[in-house]
Amino acid sequence: MTEGQLDELVLAVEKRRSKTKALRVLETAWDVPKCGHCASLQVVKNGHSRGLQRYCCRACGKTFSANTGTPLAKLHSKERFFEQGECLAKGMTVRAAAATLGVSVSTAFRLRHRFLQAVQAHQPQHVSGLLEADETYFRQSQKGSRKMTRASRARGGKATPKGSARDLVPVLIGRVRGTHQVSDSVLTAMTAGQAEDALRPVVGPDTLLCTDGSGALRTAAARLGVTSKAIAVGYDGRVSEGVYHVQTVNNHHERFKTWVNRQLRGVSTKHLPNHLAWMRLWEWFKEGIKPEHFVVSGLGKQLINR
Ligand SMILES: [Zn+2]
Repeated sequence: MTEGQLDELVLAVEKRRSKTKALRVLETAWDVPKCGHCASLQVVKNGHSRGLQRYCCRACGKTFSANTGTPLAKLHSKERFFEQGECLAKGMTVRAAAATLGVSVSTAFRLRHRFLQAVQAHQPQHVSGLLEADETYFRQSQKGSRKMTRASRARGGKATPKGSARDLVPVLIGRVRGTHQVSDSVLTAMTAGQAEDALRPVVGPDTLLCTDGSGALRTAAARLGVTSKAIAVGYDGRVSEGVYHVQTVNNHHERFKTWVNRQLRGVSTKHLPNHLAWMRLWEWFKEGIKPEHFVVSGLGKQLINR
């Protein structure tokens, strides 16, 4: 065998292996095969379709496979799923992912968001213990949008005239102390009503809410019937010591902002929820993050915040 033939063989084997791995991950995303149309468990094996086991539903009579009814259903080239998971696990930019996957930048962009879409809903519910909640702000951004509804701004420019919050998007983040649980929601305004809606599924009877004492969060906590503690800030701006602080959630804000602004060079407001979801996966698995976590989560199975 010549050197060239050997290279070709190795490449073919790698491609085949990646495909098998991707398909296996897709199928193990299920605990039990469930109909993607009507959620019935009364299903029987029914041949294969594009390398995936196909099933027939006894209840509705339709056929389906592991990705039916998920955000990943209409994506072609399932063998690339695993590679896409790798790009997300490594936190690659869209351009780097496009080069790795051998697809256009717009395809890489679409793939990224299809994979993250389901993870938006993978939030913690009725948490126990200290929940630090605090908001942070992002500038309104239409990055990547073809139709800008306002004139573009030079990078690094000031968002608005001083004192105006019109151009800022509040993101309310919650972190449960001593766990990897993170909740987040993109609001349109930091009002008590929006904070209440965002926190309702997160808090439970055993939640102790820690805030920086903002009126909106205090009102929200009272309406939800949750015990809350506001941290005391001294005249010198220093936060009082002790267990009631929002330092953990503020550190989370900082890490998220650094990643979004420095590495990704900003994201559009529309895609902010997907990036928050991405960050949540990282926070959960830390250095143990694997490509399959993104594939399985993308198929809608909640791995985090449980
Ligand atoms: Zn069915």
